[in-house]
Amino acid sequence: MEKIILIKYAELNTKKDNINMFLKTLKQNLEKRLCKYDIEITYDKGRMFVKTEDRFDEVEEIVRNTFGIHEVITGYELINNSLEEIEKQTILFVKDLSFKTFKVETKRSDKTFPLESLEVSRRIGGLILKNKENVKVDVHHPELVFHIEIRKDKAYIYYETKKAVGGYPVGTLGKGLLMLSGGIDSPVAGYLAMKRGVKIEAIYFESPPHTSVEAKEKVLSLAHKLSEYACDEIKVHIIPFTDIQEAIYKNVPHDYLVTIMRRMMYRISARVAYQNRCKILINGESIGQVASQTLTSMSVINEVVKMPVIRPVACFDKLEIIDISKKIGTYETSILPYEDCCTIFVPTHPVINPLKEKCEEYEALIPYEKLIEEAIQNKTTVKGIKQEFEDLL
Ligand code: ATP
Ligand code: MG
Repeated sequence: MEKIILIKYAELNTKKDNINMFLKTLKQNLEKRLCKYDIEITYDKGRMFVKTEDRFDEVEEIVRNTFGIHEVITGYELINNSLEEIEKQTILFVKDLSFKTFKVETKRSDKTFPLESLEVSRRIGGLILKNKENVKVDVHHPELVFHIEIRKDKAYIYYETKKAVGGYPVGTLGKGLLMLSGGIDSPVAGYLAMKRGVKIEAIYFESPPHTSVEAKEKVLSLAHKLSEYACDEIKVHIIPFTDIQEAIYKNVPHDYLVTIMRRMMYRISARVAYQNRCKILINGESIGQVASQTLTSMSVINEVVKMPVIRPVACFDKLEIIDISKKIGTYETSILPYEDCCTIFVPTHPVINPLKEKCEEYEALIPYEKLIEEAIQNKTTVKGIKQEFEDLL
């Protein structure tokens, strides 16, 4: 009998016609995430199976944290699916388990198996009662549910099912462009979008010399952290934003600085997204968090693009976002104190109810089309990378 990880498909089962694409991607993603381990992955329409010779618990933990997996079973694969083998291994298996009440549940996908599921459960239940002292059957609230799955050629026994992270396999729902700043919110937004199966590329606006090299390194480090969930290193498009920011600073009344700056960021992001076949923009805006995230601000900023903008943390409290960022390992990097271009040009009294007409009036004072073109032409694209400072965290 060999210890094995069985993956339940749960929500993936609703993807009738596309299920093969989902499963193929899930397998590839698992292979990438588990490339350091000696593993073998197989699947059929009902289950995916992961076998490993190495550190089973570590592999199982990674599987549980891979998007697209809802429940994971620690099971045992029998050498064949004969009743004799199931009986023999059941006796060995329950010998070391401690429980007082139990029930047996059997699933039979191999319909050529000579007994029906209920009959197997009854026989194996009787066998357990005979071989284990002081235990009894309780069909309503058993301490242990002993599962038997009879498949073609093989049978599986298990009693332990663990909850996994859920979502869809990354890459099955297309690609989005994440507006990634060095803060707490945007990495969490990226994580949540990936959880729904969206592959991401990132865009970062830098304004040297107002923003430091460290601020950029922090963003690349965050992209690298997210790549663990992405199953690949994430591409980061770095946009030189200094000229645009300085032009805004010189020409626009200061209460509108942030609104106009964000409209420019949106315009550039949508174009870069389009060029890179990203279907949506993703960012870390959260309703009410700052002046540019009131509903009026969001709508005036959003109106410069047609592309859908997904804000995964829009309805989360800051503390909830912080909790996720700690759980996914981005928090320590996010709180490093390097200035980001937004914090430098923040006025003391930013407008909270900006008017579209005023934005247009102020924008007419800046040759922004030309500046946007230049910024996009001068963008550099790199991949997220582990930074030296991470070892100190
Ligand atoms: P975060 O903690 O994610 O930085 P925040 O609370 O600082 O968010 P803002 O600075 O208003 O909020 O930014 C809102 C969102 O806009 C960010 O979550 C991010 O998606 C995007 N954004 C802000 N600054 C940049 C930047 N320099 N480059 C790319 N995206 C940015
Ligand atoms: Mg920020």
